[in-house]
Parts: sequence; C-alpha cells; structure tokens
Amino acid sequence: MSRIEKETFRPEETFAFAKSIAEQVKGGEVYCLDGDLGVGKTVFAQGFGAGLGITEPMASPTFTILKEYHTGRMALYHFDVYRIGSEDEMEEIGFYEMAGSPDGVALIEWSKLIEGILPENAIRVTIEKNPEKGFDYRRIVIEEP
Ligand code: ADP
Ligand code: MG
Repeated sequence: MSRIEKETFRPEETFAFAKSIAEQVKGGEVYCLDGDLGVGKTVFAQGFGAGLGITEPMASPTFTILKEYHTGRMALYHFDVYRIGSEDEMEEIGFYEMAGSPDGVALIEWSKLIEGILPENAIRVTIEKNPEKGFDYRRIVIEEP
C-alpha cells in the first residue's frame, strides 16, 4: 500500500502533477478519480493524457461514458461514469476489455458509482477542496494497494 498526498493551488499544478504520474505508468493500471463536481478530475485526466504524449484536446466523456485516445505512448481509456444507469452497462461499453489491458491505462471519473466492478488493484485518486485554503486549493491523495 502506498499513499501520495499533493496539495495544489492552481489548475496548472494539478495538470503537471498528473502529467508526472502518467510519465511513469507501465500499462494495465486503473486509476479511479473521485471527488465532487468541479473538483478537478478532468483537469487531472488532461494532465495525465499529456504525460502519455496525447496531443489532441481532452474533454470529460460525460455523455459517451468512454473516450479512447491512441496517439500517446500507450492507449488511454477515459471513462466518466456519472451518467451510467447500472454497472451492467459497463460491459457493453467494453469496460472489462479496457480496464487492466496491458496496452493502456484506464481513468475512471466518478468510479464510486461502479465500485462493485472495480478491479482489486485499482489506484484511488481522491481530490478535495478546502474553502479555508482558497478557491483554487485542492488536496489530491493517491492510494495504491
Ligand atoms: P471535475 O471533472 O472534477 O468535475 P473539472 O476538472 O472539469 O472538474 O473542473 C475543475 C475546475 O476547477 C476547472 O474549472 C479548473 O480550472 C478549476 N480549478 C481551480 N483550481 C484547481 C486546482 N488546484 N486543480 C484543478 N482544478 C482547479
Ligand atoms: Mg469531469
């Protein structure tokens, strides 16, 4: 079990932190991104994509649930399961083929909504605000089993 904690004070810092993590991934990792609406999950995903060398613009796949990127050094499977009706829908989307596939990395925004089907070795990224520390303050905790 490892735990990394990072405080950021601007979106660019969250982006850069995620980028530095992506530069070290080997493939097969599943990153779960949780935290309230507007906390920075997508900013984290965008930095992560940059760290894989993805150059195309990345937005949250809120309506499509999944967006795949194949222009980086490995595939990125970016899920946003906020609008998922049930865990069963994830099978149709191809979740089980993508999450854990050694040719890529999966990022799942709102992973708590599909807690029952997450792999045991999933890496948890939790982002929180703290109004006392300023509007743009975020605390990012990464826990690896
Ligand atoms: P989510 O995907 O969690 O709903 P987004 O990443 O879409 O959230 O939006 C986060 C918003 O918060 C962006 O408008 C971003 O500019 C802003 N923001 C302010 N400070 C930070 C920070 N330290 N880290 C990340 N985002 C921040
Ligand atoms: Mg988002």
